[in-house]
Amino acid sequence: MLRPLCRPNLSRFLVPHRTLSSVDSTLYDVVISGGGMVGTTMACALGSHPHLRHKKILLLEAGQKKVCDPYPEQFSNRVSSITPGSATLLASFGAWDHICTMRLKPYKRMQVWDACSDALITFDKEGMEDIGYIIENDVITATLTQQLDSLSERVEVLYRSRAVGYTWPAPYHNGEGSPWVQIELADGQRLHTRLLIGADGHNSMVRSAAGMKCIHWSYNHVAVVATLELSESTDNNVAWQRFLPSGPIALLPLSDTCSSLVWSTSPEHASQLLEMDDESFVDAVNSAFWSSEHHSDFISAAGSLLRSAVSLLMPSGTSARQLPPSVSRLGKKSRAAFPLGLGHSTEYVRQRVALIGDAAHRVHPLAGQGVNMGFGDVASLVHHLSSAAFDGRDLGSTTHLLEYETERQRQNLPLMAAIDMLKRLYNTNQPSIVLFRTLGLQATNAVPQLKEQIMAFASK
Ligand SMILES: Cc1cc2nc3c(=O)[nH]c(=O)nc-3n(C[C@H](O)[C@H](O)[C@H](O)COP(=O)(O)OP(=O)(O)OC[C@H]3O[C@@H](n4cnc5c(N)ncnc54)[C@H](O)[C@@H]3O)c2cc1C
Repeated sequence: MLRPLCRPNLSRFLVPHRTLSSVDSTLYDVVISGGGMVGTTMACALGSHPHLRHKKILLLEAGQKKVCDPYPEQFSNRVSSITPGSATLLASFGAWDHICTMRLKPYKRMQVWDACSDALITFDKEGMEDIGYIIENDVITATLTQQLDSLSERVEVLYRSRAVGYTWPAPYHNGEGSPWVQIELADGQRLHTRLLIGADGHNSMVRSAAGMKCIHWSYNHVAVVATLELSESTDNNVAWQRFLPSGPIALLPLSDTCSSLVWSTSPEHASQLLEMDDESFVDAVNSAFWSSEHHSDFISAAGSLLRSAVSLLMPSGTSARQLPPSVSRLGKKSRAAFPLGLGHSTEYVRQRVALIGDAAHRVHPLAGQGVNMGFGDVASLVHHLSSAAFDGRDLGSTTHLLEYETERQRQNLPLMAAIDMLKRLYNTNQPSIVLFRTLGLQATNAVPQLKEQIMAFASK
């Protein structure tokens, strides 16, 4: 699926030395369409890069400016697990320190286990280092917005500004018109840019208007999210995920007494979960983590045989099973549901266009990778654009945009394939598949080097 770095035709496009005077005042070097977590991060990273100091940058966001009370009493129900790699990117332009002063919960261990057997896998780092951070999306967005405010001389931001149409320069339509991408806003304004970055989410209009093909399917799964209070106060530094035959359920730490729920399940079951009273919902969550109704004696016996063999051969290859905390209460009005699907744009770039974040790829949240992949796109694209700016090259040229595409597809495609495979492998209680995955999970858990590699790959 990776494209070669050199593509015929497109690189023939010449940048004129003189721009059209009518266009000058509305011409930007970079316009980012979409100010979600990924687009806003892109704007901050470009705006604070020394090589891009003299570039004219604009962020367009259809929604309102998001400001957040620095210490809200209640946790928001939308959270993300953020990898150390993403934290490094956010730190590179000063946002990480603000996040740390607002609210985040580091976690030091992850336990993932199968509801149909005793198979489990744990991840942790030597010396109990942080393996990730659970952060409310509102906290990330508010911090990035604050950071953008401090970059106002270098990055212009238009909130409540929806792009409704794009006109592409000559190589796509063989027209004579403007050499730049033209953007039409809902209020009738027209803007021009040397490079358009599409960060407008999984239904990306930039992607469809540019005619970039997208492979996508619905999982016929809905993620029910909620904020939960725990029965007891603990260190609460473990991220828990149990694979039920109907879909994974995850409990992500927010504080010593609160966790966030992400429960992926069928649309019918999700509707029931949303409609039931608070007490029944809490019972359903506890039962989903604790019940052994899906266990089979045969598979449990095969699993424990493998575990005994592993503990004889590699005494360090088994990990102690920890019990997840029990939930006592549901946060007020914290239940919500989101449909889930997979999407991948076969192209991330064309002449004067690049896609980042969910506009380029959408994954199931079971591995907590969606926004982290988007942040990876930002780090890579900023690297290529800053080198191009340093060398005085045209920012919209496919030469470096294709390098970005290749670099990111090499990272994103295997990750997406692995997440999709996990989703399918665990979405059944067929005995032969349960046996296969039980043995596979236990064998993986027994090889620390393999687990380290998985962690290193997923935390980039
Ligand atoms: C339940 C759930 C849990 C998740 N948990 C995790 C997790 O733990 N870790 C993780 O890494 N990921 C997680 N994800 C994935 C993550 O939330 C997404 O990958 C991420 O939000 C995508 O961000 P984005 O900025 O690319 O797109 P979006 O958040 O969709 O933002 C797109 C923005 O573009 C704007 N826009 C759209 N069209 C236009 C237009 N025409 N003009 C102007 N603006 C426009 C929209 O208003 C929006 O603000 C989870 C997802 C779900 C559903």
